[in-house]
Amino acid sequence: DSNTGAVSYKKIPASGLMEALQIGIGHSIGSIAPKATRDILMKDFSELEIVHFPALGTSTTPAHRCKDFIFKTYAPRAFKKFRKEFSIEADDFLVSLCTHRLKELSNPGASGSLFFLSHDDNFIIKTITRKEAIFLQKLLPGYYLNLTQNKKTTLPCFYGSFLYESMGKTIRICIMNNILPSNIKYHEKYDLKGSMYKRQASNKERMKSSPTLKDLDFLEEHPGGLILQPDLYDDLKRTLERDIRVLESFRIMDYSLLLGIHNISVNKQETLKSRKPNLETRPYSDQEIGYDQDYAKQVLDRIGSKRLKDNWKQDDSIPQSVPRAPPPQEEAKPRTVQNKKRRKARSADAGGSAAERAERAAVSTSSFRRFNGGTLAVNERGEKCLIFLGIIDILQSYRLLKKMEHSWKSILTDGDTVSVHRPGFYAERFKNFCFDRVFKRGDDSSPQVRRQKS
Ligand code: ATP
Ligand code: CA
Ligand code: CA
Repeated sequence: DSNTGAVSYKKIPASGLMEALQIGIGHSIGSIAPKATRDILMKDFSELEIVHFPALGTSTTPAHRCKDFIFKTYAPRAFKKFRKEFSIEADDFLVSLCTHRLKELSNPGASGSLFFLSHDDNFIIKTITRKEAIFLQKLLPGYYLNLTQNKKTTLPCFYGSFLYESMGKTIRICIMNNILPSNIKYHEKYDLKGSMYKRQASNKERMKSSPTLKDLDFLEEHPGGLILQPDLYDDLKRTLERDIRVLESFRIMDYSLLLGIHNISVNKQETLKSRKPNLETRPYSDQEIGYDQDYAKQVLDRIGSKRLKDNWKQDDSIPQSVPRAPPPQEEAKPRTVQNKKRRKARSADAGGSAAERAERAAVSTSSFRRFNGGTLAVNERGEKCLIFLGIIDILQSYRLLKKMEHSWKSILTDGDTVSVHRPGFYAERFKNFCFDRVFKRGDDSSPQVRRQKS
């Protein structure tokens, strides 16, 4: 329970688990990184690496304060390849995940999974069930195919999958990208499935400072949907359709579209009114980002990476107040000469808040995985918004669900609206919801789009 600060999973306190995970991940990533790369072979997807971590340490593993544990790495070579595809450097990955305390996220989901967030917000660690872990391994070849064919994919980026075993308990985790970096303020956040059945946030969820709302809440708040520029809408539609086709081919269901909305117009008014520095520009204290030099050094010692330690030394002067996350990548290429001019003018004020930078990046591109900094949209009130999105929770396959569960749920409820349903039906409904209700294709003459372009 997050109020008492004593979170646990399978009766293992989260804090101790976190430390063991960091040691295990550090060792695993650190040992595969220097190995020569070669083409991925089919057998690499089913590889399993097993390392023992006795508390006293061995010649290859560090001594530690946790109980003895075993750490397994699924498909180390394949995930190394994925990380490369996502441009994640081993050192950056390790500094993000292993040198600072992780933050615990409160999970609005019902499954009871634990979520940890890296101090810099880039990575999410999620505990998964045995079934999900097995399924993820089966999914890897198809997932890899999609990565190479559908570069703008909105499916989760999986960076690793591991198993921790200690005192007769087993915990499985996967590491993925954070779709909603918290240096941006989200005025609304939705977990959307395209189902209407019980798809309304609970009162308890609404009480939270940044609640995750659901389908019915979206329809109530945005009966007109979110309007995208035509080329952006078409691009998003194509990308999502391809992703959903892959999910359907694996008979995956119950996934969601996670959608964060930063309302630019409202944010400006709020900032003016409160005269307080807004969320994105405020520097964060070491305490807030869980920065702890001694701890960081201990972990680096454990990992035993010389290069990391050298990097660290250079960093020693920085951490008085570290920004919470790196600025959104502005790798988007301007498409027209006009854009180029605009960009040049803009680059004069390179500063500004994370949201402002994201907005500039969003304006200058029509594509969307090219930058993870957000996409421009307009709501029914004509307010400019930055939206952040991705598909999450894709490790439930209908193939592995007991037949009983399905028929039982269909009898209790309307079979057409319950979430646990045929994957093809789920996919169709999901798509229809996304492109009929959530996103609307602005046409070039509509006032909203003209306003958005100006
Ligand atoms: P359930 O199976 O009950 O739906 P779960 O434990 O499998 O829940 P998810 O559905 O994966 O959990 O995620 C729950 C919530 O956690 C999401 O609604 C979202 O708010 C947050 N979340 C999950 N994955 C991500 C991600 N990659 N980036 C940002 N937030 C995420
Ligand atoms: Ca879910
Ligand atoms: Ca789930």
